[in-house]
Amino acid sequence: MLNTEPCVECGDVPELLDEDLTCGPCRIRIHLGATVLEMQTVTVRFEIEEVVSCDVVAELEVPADMVDDDEALLAWLEENDDAWVDEIDPLSQQVAERTITAMYGADV
Ligand SMILES: [Zn+2]
Repeated sequence: MLNTEPCVECGDVPELLDEDLTCGPCRIRIHLGATVLEMQTVTVRFEIEEVVSCDVVAELEVPADMVDDDEALLAWLEENDDAWVDEIDPLSQQVAERTITAMYGADV
């Protein structure tokens, strides 16, 4: 049978009411410490580093003896990134990792 009683915390009538007469969201909130964080709008300045990944398809002039050697080819590509860096399609780049590298604080 579905619940018809309101939650004692928020007054909603959930489908399921807990034994303590609270709904799911309120129960979670209470379990998380019942503290409502006081929020404030500030200007925060910090620096981030993004690691992006994307597939590159490029027609390149590479040393012929490396064509069948993926490892040698990879090393050559890393050494000669100016040969293919223009082939990167910015739209295909996806941020794989975002790290905050410096924190300059908040202006209140
Ligand atoms: Zn509730």
